[in-house]
Amino acid sequence: MAQVRVRFAPSPTGAPHIGSLRTALFVWLWARHSGGKFILRVEDTDQKREVENGLELIMDSLRFLGLDWDEGPDIGGAYGPYVQSQRLPIYHAHAQQLISSGHAYYCYCTPERLEQMRREQQARGEPTRYDLRCRFLSPAERAAHERAGDAKVVRLAVPQEGKTTLHDFIHGDLTIANKDVDDQVLIKSDGFPTYHFAVVVDDHLMQISHVMRADEWIPSFPKHVLLYQAFGWDIPMHGHVPDVLGPDKKKLSKRHGATSVIQFRDEGYLAEALVNFLALVGWSYDDKTEIFTRQQLIDLFTLDKIGHAPAVFDHTKLDWMNGYYIRALPDDELATRLLPFLERAHLHADAATVRELIPLVRARLKKLSDIVALADYIFVDDLEYAVQSLIGKSDPTTALAALRAAQATLEKYPSFADEEKIEAELRVDAEQLGQKNAQFFGVLRVAVTGRTVSLPLMGSMRVLGREKTLPRIARAIARLENKA
Ligand code: GLU
Ligand code: ZN
Repeated sequence: MAQVRVRFAPSPTGAPHIGSLRTALFVWLWARHSGGKFILRVEDTDQKREVENGLELIMDSLRFLGLDWDEGPDIGGAYGPYVQSQRLPIYHAHAQQLISSGHAYYCYCTPERLEQMRREQQARGEPTRYDLRCRFLSPAERAAHERAGDAKVVRLAVPQEGKTTLHDFIHGDLTIANKDVDDQVLIKSDGFPTYHFAVVVDDHLMQISHVMRADEWIPSFPKHVLLYQAFGWDIPMHGHVPDVLGPDKKKLSKRHGATSVIQFRDEGYLAEALVNFLALVGWSYDDKTEIFTRQQLIDLFTLDKIGHAPAVFDHTKLDWMNGYYIRALPDDELATRLLPFLERAHLHADAATVRELIPLVRARLKKLSDIVALADYIFVDDLEYAVQSLIGKSDPTTALAALRAAQATLEKYPSFADEEKIEAELRVDAEQLGQKNAQFFGVLRVAVTGRTVSLPLMGSMRVLGREKTLPRIARAIARLENKA
């Protein structure tokens, strides 16, 4: 087999959609599995839809997932440029080639005429399509349009008979009668190529071996196949990969929550989890194995195991997988990844403290961002809570007695590392005061964490250390004394 060359060809229209990155992952896995090349090409021919940092968002998303490319806009390659707006002369030359060979023609119809035509077709209940007027202009009529300098587009002259077939390696043969295919525009009046034209020219010139794109593009196959045929080019292998749907079986969209990889990253999903999860959205190894390392995916990924039914994006499964990968991270690595989430929440967190927290939080994290809600009290200077929550269902005197006893015990310890020993002694304190553990430790918990529910209390005190814990208890005592 010739070298595998595959491409991810997004349009820079915003933070890339997770479904689009799923397709990119399949393409990347195929390249890495087969020792081929993964090419990044930017399809920016629809300038109206473009956003300014579109390319950065694409590259950030790929980098985050670890999908590295061998040729692309930033690193170049032998088949560049890799940005379509920098390839306009190439498209023009190829359009000319088709015009000369009689496979394409100039169309001078005004937008008003086309609109009128569409309305009439709709009124008659016909499919809307170009009525071929300019395909059959006489040389004199054509010359008149040219003399008048009329705006024009280039259209493909689709054969009016026969049928067109694409051999899709996922769906089998897709066939359509040519009489049902529109004379599509190849070059727009602004001189930019349409997506369909540019994609075929580029896939050919860049020697793409396999084209993989989402199912939603299936209706476009005749446009592409007819172009390959008009040029007399070989058609690369084609596979339409399953669309990504929300749980309601509608196309995954903002209604279903986060949709861009950047959002998932910022919510605290691990790249490892996303890659594993996305690989199983439309691909499966044996219908049961769920956890795959990146290397296993590369080793096992084959095209015949891509499904043809639309795939559902199961958020619950992603959360489960993310928790799995979080629990699998070494302590230091998890701490390193958590720190930025605390910093972004404007907490003065430091690496050493976060590292100490790991045993307390690891099993409780579904997403890295959960660390903020779980552990913010560790890092704030002044805890905010109502005095009443110290008292709870008891009374100020009882609460004060508990805190004073705890304070006396804790002051004896230079470090709070020996959680078990300290806890045992505090239990004795509670007993001597005639207080239930729930009462005694409940007051202490609020004093130390500001909350009635928190990470384990003894562990919290260990992480906070003497220097932070004792002032918190002293402050709670002072507040209760004011109250009493
Ligand atoms: N630019 C197209 C997109 O963003 C590429 C589709 C294809 O792979 O041909 O969907
Ligand atoms: Zn026309």
